Amino acid sequence: MVTTEPKESAAKKPANELAIQFGSAWEYAPAPETPDHVKIEPRYELFIGGKWQAPHSKKYFDTISPSTEEKLSEVAEADATDIDNAVKAARVAYEKYWSKLRPIDRGKYVYRISRALQEKARELAIVESMDGGKPIKESRDFDVVQAAAHFFYYAGWADKLAYAFPGRNPRALGVAGQVIPWNFPLLMAAWKLAPALATGNTCVLKPAETTPLTALLLAKIIEECDLPPGVVNIVTGAGATGAALVGHPDVDKVAFTGSTDVGKRIQKAIAGSKKKITLELGGKAANIVFADAPLDQAIEGIIGGIFFNQGHVCCAGSRLLVEESAAPAVIRKLKDRMATLRLGDPLDKNTDVGAINSKMQLEKIRELCASGEKEGAERFSAPCAMPKRGYWFAPTIFTGVSQSHRIAREEIFGPVLAVQTFRTPEEAIEKANNTMYGLSAGIWTDKGSKSFWVAQRLKAGVVWANTYNKFDPSSPFGGFKESGFGREGGRQGLLAYLEVD
Ligand code: NAP
Ligand code: MG
Repeated sequence: MVTTEPKESAAKKPANELAIQFGSAWEYAPAPETPDHVKIEPRYELFIGGKWQAPHSKKYFDTISPSTEEKLSEVAEADATDIDNAVKAARVAYEKYWSKLRPIDRGKYVYRISRALQEKARELAIVESMDGGKPIKESRDFDVVQAAAHFFYYAGWADKLAYAFPGRNPRALGVAGQVIPWNFPLLMAAWKLAPALATGNTCVLKPAETTPLTALLLAKIIEECDLPPGVVNIVTGAGATGAALVGHPDVDKVAFTGSTDVGKRIQKAIAGSKKKITLELGGKAANIVFADAPLDQAIEGIIGGIFFNQGHVCCAGSRLLVEESAAPAVIRKLKDRMATLRLGDPLDKNTDVGAINSKMQLEKIRELCASGEKEGAERFSAPCAMPKRGYWFAPTIFTGVSQSHRIAREEIFGPVLAVQTFRTPEEAIEKANNTMYGLSAGIWTDKGSKSFWVAQRLKAGVVWANTYNKFDPSSPFGGFKESGFGREGGRQGLLAYLEVD
């Protein structure tokens, strides 16, 4: 019998090859948000005691757009003197106004902030994407919406604290010093300010150096909402500014979100003081896919969990643990889907993957990926065209990863996925827990009983089943092990800002 080798038809080619071959035929027309109506001032001062004040050092630093490398504005660099002024303003505001207000009136102010955020949602989303590089889809549909929801949720608790902790006499702590990172600038500010204000504390907040703008717009919103002067103070600056804030002797409560390294430093710096502290730190989450999972749904969850928002997410599913029998199919589907991801202009509504937040972060991602190749893992990067200017990194997966590889152990904080396999649920759990972190995890299976069995054994603060990266203000979030301690969100999030009997 004569057999002829079937000709390789387009239909049989993997989609990623098709996307490369026919890519341009399927491109979306650009749909950028116009920033015309957005007003970014050329310079921002410090918001202290209800006034915009020049920094004591007279120093300013630039904030740029990581997608174009253009300067957007310059912001004040606060030093120890400015921090001292801000903490004093917060103390006066606490003694004079905020602790004397009826809880129901405090709640009204917090509701007001939530409404103002909703009114200015479009402007905030655009500025967030310009300053930080994240796609407008993310900032518009997630960051700003969740920030407003957070203020709304905690406003409701302001006059119900006695019901939240019956018989335990909940009392405010005083002045909170809060330091936040660059990956969710507005949302992290909301996570910090909303529960602190609702429980009756006053605040000094320091945004990250590379993404100060939405926190400054929030300061303007707070000014417009007519909060008593000094109840919220926003001080921009670098690491030294954060260190001066958390180390200030008149701060009663330190709330920090950022890297595990800096978290440890802060904990050491305040050891022995009476300051109450919560730390939300790094992560190296495992996304566990069993062979019985709805695979196409899982692929979307894996892709969203690590590539959207450039992997700049502390709870990103940066390790994929896939049951061995399903691994070939999952990896093929992943590569196909990766080839369709659209990387580029963060202001374009079609963009899935935006710019890396800073040159420093880009270098860190590149260095870790180079170590992955050097240690013997196999790299596949999505075939994305890279814009000429700005900081970009193509979504990347590594297969053939072993537990000892740095890419399996260290937080990359970029669009990079390390894939490992397992044969039994016990092995999946052991591998998932084999990390110094414990922030989050994902489970994909058709069996509800299996997800509960696995979830109970995972050492992670949040476990998602057949979904990933879902948030709600009523649901507490926080880590185990070196991912930190304390919870933000939900009734539990109130406790970080209260003394209870
Ligand atoms: P980072 O370097 O730790 O910085 C976080 C914040 O701390 C920034 O505002 C930073 O200022 C400030 N800072 C730096 N040194 C300080 C010091 N010695 N004392 C006080 N403050 C100091 O972290 P990042 O690179 O901005 O953010 C990424 C990290 O945050 C990742 O590890 C990620 O996992 C983690 N994260 C965790 C969560 C969570 O909820 N668990 C959420 C988001 C992010 P500068 O910006 O000027 O350096
Ligand atoms: Mg910036």
